[in-house]
Amino acid sequence: MKDHQKTLKKRYIFEGKGLHTGLNCRMTLFPAPADHGIVFQRTDLGEEALVEASWRNIAGTARSTLLCKDGVEVMTIEHLLAAFYGLGIDNALVATDNVELPILDGSARPFVEAILADGLQLQNTPRRFLEVSKPFLFEDPETGSSLQVLPADSFTVEVEIDFDSKVLGVQKAHFSDGDDFASAIAPCRTFCFLHELEFLLNHNLIKGGDMDNAIVIVENEVDENTLHRLKSIFNVENLERAPEGYLNNLTLYFENECARHKLLDLIGDFALAGLPLKGKIIARKPGHAINTAALKSMFEKKIL
Ligand SMILES: [Zn+2]
Repeated sequence: MKDHQKTLKKRYIFEGKGLHTGLNCRMTLFPAPADHGIVFQRTDLGEEALVEASWRNIAGTARSTLLCKDGVEVMTIEHLLAAFYGLGIDNALVATDNVELPILDGSARPFVEAILADGLQLQNTPRRFLEVSKPFLFEDPETGSSLQVLPADSFTVEVEIDFDSKVLGVQKAHFSDGDDFASAIAPCRTFCFLHELEFLLNHNLIKGGDMDNAIVIVENEVDENTLHRLKSIFNVENLERAPEGYLNNLTLYFENECARHKLLDLIGDFALAGLPLKGKIIARKPGHAINTAALKSMFEKKIL
């Protein structure tokens, strides 16, 4: 039964702001028939406003992954897609009434917990997989990011991050088929550096952010002005830089939570392959841009 396709047992509703747009979004996950795949539906634009979760529809990767088909856009899809992929869900319809999915706590945990509470619906059709045909290397010399993909009998991801950060250091994370996605990867939250946060706030790029959906990394002491501004924006009183170098708005679940989140993002982006993969991915400094560029290139070069 392990190799049968799976869908949801029932519908699930999530509501909240998008991280980048700040727009409120009500999202409903519906079960879907075998071989349907994951499809988004923009209900605010009409019943026919559909976008498949496919690498063919990737339209942007500025801080989150954006899909677009025939002018219908949906963005920040990666955490939900990682949840589906990590749980082995092949088929679902995702109806949203706005362009950006709710960020919730910045991780995939809310989706995973809700769905696992009911278990999954097995379908009467075998699962299909994409096999990596030969070794593949994709590098971005400018950023030092690279993705190496190797043929394998199952799915494995190894991630290493290195942002030249005293706080983060070099972190690694690992996931293989059979690992507990729900507890090891799904809870890991989005992170950003304080200097990025200031830039984003100044440019109105994270309107939906609040203090419980992002880990904030602070390389140096925070000046009083910045702290004051953050406190007022986020409505948090005792905000300061914790000794480990993180803003004390939240407590880390894992010391390498940031690397695990990058792994979560990578799984969400690779879910755009449309089918589960058999292959080993070794990623150095991955991000949405290189993840999706590598995926496209793999299809173009018939690696997948
Ligand atoms: Zn993310």
